[in-house]
Amino acid sequence: MATATSSQHWVCLDCDWVVTEVSLVAGQQAQCPRCQHVITKQGSAPLMHLLAYSITALVLLVFALQFPFLALHRSGLHEQMWLLDSVTELVSEQRSLLSILVLLTTLVLPALYLLAALMMTALMLLQRAIPWVRYLARVLVSLRRWLMADVFLIGALISIVKLSSYASVSLQPAFYFFSGFVVVLLLIRAQLDEAWLWQQLPPLGTEPAAVSAKTAHQQQGVGCVCCHAFNRNNQRYCWRCGEWLALSRWRHPLLTLALLLAATAFLVPANVLPMIETLRLGQLSQATITGGVIQLWQQGDQPIAAVIFIASLVIPIAKILLLLGLLYWSKRSAPTAPYSQRMRVFRLTEWVGRWSMIDIFVVAILIALVRLGALMSIYSGAAALAFASVVVLTMLAAMSFDRRRIWWAAEEAKSD
Ligand SMILES: [Zn+2]
Ligand SMILES: [Zn+2]
Repeated sequence: MATATSSQHWVCLDCDWVVTEVSLVAGQQAQCPRCQHVITKQGSAPLMHLLAYSITALVLLVFALQFPFLALHRSGLHEQMWLLDSVTELVSEQRSLLSILVLLTTLVLPALYLLAALMMTALMLLQRAIPWVRYLARVLVSLRRWLMADVFLIGALISIVKLSSYASVSLQPAFYFFSGFVVVLLLIRAQLDEAWLWQQLPPLGTEPAAVSAKTAHQQQGVGCVCCHAFNRNNQRYCWRCGEWLALSRWRHPLLTLALLLAATAFLVPANVLPMIETLRLGQLSQATITGGVIQLWQQGDQPIAAVIFIASLVIPIAKILLLLGLLYWSKRSAPTAPYSQRMRVFRLTEWVGRWSMIDIFVVAILIALVRLGALMSIYSGAAALAFASVVVLTMLAAMSFDRRRIWWAAEEAKSD
């Protein structure tokens, strides 16, 4: 496959600065000189290793689906749970939307990601280009933030702790296979960087004229959100990856604001309605998110209570407030130094945002595992879907937030 020459340009998606492309060697990274945002870093694993990792992860996933995941023991009764039970139990409780979200984020999207990584690395090793290789790369780039198998695994551990005072839970073979799958998946994700990936592929067309050390905006251009290439404002599709450039342009503040307001509205039912309903010895009790945290605290599991408190309450609210702050700020002129500080906080919340899904996975696992009839059964509460909506809407809001606007505001203030 053709390798890009160094005369091409990347656009920093954080501050819109146009940077001359460089070819990196293993383990190196390219930083934006203006805002220090890492544009790309090349993994140190050779392609052959990545191919082996992808195959290993897929095999582990197949094995994880063949065996029980967890087993529950109480008063001489036993109950086993398979991974897919967490999905089917949600369906049987009429929570289809939630079941689709759990199925996609923990199994389907990771599997698609791995298949794309497998084909991509195989094609690179064989030095073969096929017409749809670009679609594979776009699958890899767009799926990365929706892979939540690792969050599901931590959710399983929290479920075990939550149940510890009522019943004993034992790990079954699928738990070990799934853990292995998660570790290998994280390894691949850390090694496959998007800008680097596009450098390895032959571009669709030729780059429009661009100069470095200026913003793309100043040159009537825009950076592609998929491959970081410089494009002219009048182009419809990215010259390098073929991405529809409207996705790079339509990151309008009003869209972010609408998503944030919707997320805020869902916060109310998410916290007022019950998240979980427990039937124990014929008695039904309900717990909200906060109720669940208090219960864990009183049970003596303070660290787990703190994790759920931060993931389910602090992160979603902090993310909404921070994005609202940044939206307000992008309307004003902003000095440079605190900007990069707040950007770091923003990137951190974006990174931890998906961990808010923990409580949803805990519910999905508990309802699949604890089915001992009147002795002890757990059902999902109405807050689960509302809370999942908060998580997805804040993730979409963060994706739709156009970070370049803050820098444009600063530039306008300087030129006045
Ligand atoms: Zn930058
Ligand atoms: Zn592109």
